[in-house]
Amino acid sequence: MIFTTLHKIVKVNFFYMTIHRIKTIRPTLSIISETIYPIYTDSSCAESPYNKCYTNARNWNEWRGERKMLGYFKKLTGDKQTKKLNTYYNKVKQINALEPQIEKLTDEQLKAKTSYFKEQLENGKSVLDIQVEAFAVVREAAKRVVGMRHFDVQLIGGMVLSEGNIAEMPTGEGKTLVASLSSYLRALEGKGVHVITVNDYLATRDRELIGGIHEFLGLTVGLNLPMMDPNEKKAAYQADITYGVGTEFGFDHLRDHMAYDPNQRVQRPYHYAIIDEADSVLVDEAKTPLIIAGKTGVSNELSYLCARVIKTFKEDEDFLFDPETKSTNFTDEGIAKIERGFAIENLYDLEHQTLYHYVIQALRAHIMFKRDVDYIVKEGKVLLVDAFTGRTMEGRSLSNGLHQAIEAKEGLELTEENKTQASITIQNYFRLYPTLSGMTGTAKTEEKEFQEIYSMNVIQIPTNRPVIRKDLPDQVFDTIDNKYKAVARRVKELHEKGQPVLIGTTSILQSEEIADYLRKENLQFEVLNAKTVEQEIQLISLAGQKGRITVATNMAGRGTDIMLGEGVAELGGLYVVGTERNESRRIDNQLKGRSGRQGDPGTSEFFLSLEDDLIRRFASEEVEKLKKKLKTDSDGRVLNDKMIEFFDRTQRICEGSGYSIREYNIKLDDVLNLQRSTVYELRTRILEGRELVPLIKTSVESYVKNEIEYITSEEIIPENWELGLLVQNLSSVMPGTDLSVITDMMDRNKINDTVMAQLEGYFARLDAITENPQVLSAFPRYILSAVDHHWLAHLEAMERLKEGIGLRSYSQEDPMRQYGREGYALFTEMYHKIEKEIGIQTAAIVRSIESQIGRE
Ligand code: ADP
Ligand code: MG
Repeated sequence: MIFTTLHKIVKVNFFYMTIHRIKTIRPTLSIISETIYPIYTDSSCAESPYNKCYTNARNWNEWRGERKMLGYFKKLTGDKQTKKLNTYYNKVKQINALEPQIEKLTDEQLKAKTSYFKEQLENGKSVLDIQVEAFAVVREAAKRVVGMRHFDVQLIGGMVLSEGNIAEMPTGEGKTLVASLSSYLRALEGKGVHVITVNDYLATRDRELIGGIHEFLGLTVGLNLPMMDPNEKKAAYQADITYGVGTEFGFDHLRDHMAYDPNQRVQRPYHYAIIDEADSVLVDEAKTPLIIAGKTGVSNELSYLCARVIKTFKEDEDFLFDPETKSTNFTDEGIAKIERGFAIENLYDLEHQTLYHYVIQALRAHIMFKRDVDYIVKEGKVLLVDAFTGRTMEGRSLSNGLHQAIEAKEGLELTEENKTQASITIQNYFRLYPTLSGMTGTAKTEEKEFQEIYSMNVIQIPTNRPVIRKDLPDQVFDTIDNKYKAVARRVKELHEKGQPVLIGTTSILQSEEIADYLRKENLQFEVLNAKTVEQEIQLISLAGQKGRITVATNMAGRGTDIMLGEGVAELGGLYVVGTERNESRRIDNQLKGRSGRQGDPGTSEFFLSLEDDLIRRFASEEVEKLKKKLKTDSDGRVLNDKMIEFFDRTQRICEGSGYSIREYNIKLDDVLNLQRSTVYELRTRILEGRELVPLIKTSVESYVKNEIEYITSEEIIPENWELGLLVQNLSSVMPGTDLSVITDMMDRNKINDTVMAQLEGYFARLDAITENPQVLSAFPRYILSAVDHHWLAHLEAMERLKEGIGLRSYSQEDPMRQYGREGYALFTEMYHKIEKEIGIQTAAIVRSIESQIGRE
């Protein structure tokens, strides 16, 4: 409770400052519901919309703050890391000490421990209080179910995960089994645990293997795969532990917030997640956001089809049109007609959301846009007409498929539209989890980023057996050609004695280049650019067999470890060859870590050249200078001093630049993220019908007040107030009220009082009508479509704003701040539109119900 209050204060302060910087009143032409008119926004007079819908939306600074308070975020350095490890080892001792007695339990008794632990938690114990015994139980279950006994270091890994940190454990240390510990522990809380893997293959594998242990202990386990239907997904999410790929969890989050029926949602509130290969998921793949986009493919056909269907629709029979508010909606008869026409059961089902969108737009195009009045058709194009000037508006188009709907109505060729329906970055998706944890072989080099962005510490876990792999110093050549020749020579030499070689490349293209050089040496090899994950995993798992040469990109076959074939250890184990420095040491380490698993022998060696990408991008000038005093041998090997330091330095620069780019994008995305959380929360509230009537009232009141304030602005003399317009606008959200008296008033307060009194009367009628639950249940879908409509348009506007920000960086203001400021203004504007639209939709329903009652 304290935390939320604190957040509110932080947020209010933050936006309080922002609000006061926005003083401009800017007219923008926008399309709202069924009519076009200009919107004027003065955000300074409005309460922040972020705060208005009681949001829990958190920007990530708050998120960090919360984690700090919960004690997740403690910087660990040198000594502290050792100290921390000692406390872990102490716990390991305790777990080991329990083994003799736990071993004696029958299967049933072991299983009974699960309900015992749950009871303990209910009685106020924390998960960390019961951790020791719970881990002992999981270890015993693993022995019985999969025949593996957690190594001591795996127990430590499990503890790190339980705390919400990153366990750094090299390949082959058995991270899959590590996850079994903390997923069990945190699942005991009954709020669901998500175990995130890098691909569906691994999710399925891990679910089978580790899920068996949990099922043995009486927990339920689910698997979330992309092609599942909503019911299967729902079941998977209801399970105590759910396996799946991160992107799919993110998409489910987005889809859940597009639902029109609360039962269509599949996820539960977030609790705890473990991310395997956390660096790949959170750093490498976090570059591309998840986007659900409307398909343009179907839109053409569907637009024409809908236009044709709508042509047959009759007013009052199939649809209602309210000229006063310029709003339109289908009647039940109309809906039934569409359902019959498209052979579907329920137009309001989530799966028909697209169809609903198209038919409603077709209807709007049909009845609200008159040819040669609202638009003209010229040279096969729809040109909008400005209602005030009567001139066509060049280059303007209606958004959200309405323009296409008019084109379809006129039988014209449709202009292209591919719309983002929803999007979120991987970072921001995972920040939704109150506790996040991760495991990977390589995270320490990016620790700062994990701390700054995710508030997770990286704890290096000692290996089960000492690593005896030899990492040889890099070899540097003058040209790429000489480098590849040296690689081929090295491979040949190793192959002659039968030692397996894995050549890591940065791209499939580079793999092909290397392949050419290997062919010249008459070597037999496998190039891993398989189309399927399964093939890739199969090939990479064979890379440790005698005499084998494998060329693979670094990403290939992630999550599979390479076991050595018979007699290979005697030959020196797997020899890993790197063909250039990667963008970060972390990725180099991933490659090195392919060799030397679980105390195996092995070697790694990197071949570099002065023509490498890294150098070209980040050290071209230095290399020019270097070339003047270059010393090479006959193979092109560079003999100058400090070459490795030079590459190290350049790689650091590259790492820094990558980090800055990611940081910049995250900050940019923070703006949208806060907006998204706000709208999603509003949406959830409407969808679940939570305090709907109060929400409607607040929205209407806010719109009314803003409108009065705007039209009776202090900057305009009262004689020039457009009170007729005010009456017209207010009437659209206050049906059955007579506001004409205010047209003679020259006093803002008087106007305000008069309107508020009328509003009170309207609200009383609204209360009476909505006492009937059946009537009330009609509201959400209209209001939701209003929210979605404006939110989607807003997403587009934000996208355009972001595109423009880069171009404007020459201006004085920091582009980031500019984006934040203007993004906030756009959001406020959108929020006003939503409020108005909620008012209009409600008015339409009220009017129709009251006229029904009147008739009865
Ligand atoms: P990582 O993900 O850390 O690279 P995996 O989870 O893929 O490692 O495990 C590597 C191999 O080690 C697997 O074959 C697994 O069965 C085995 N393994 C893991 N933990 C143990 C254990 N405690 N005892 C025996 N084998 C284990
Ligand atoms: Mg793994």
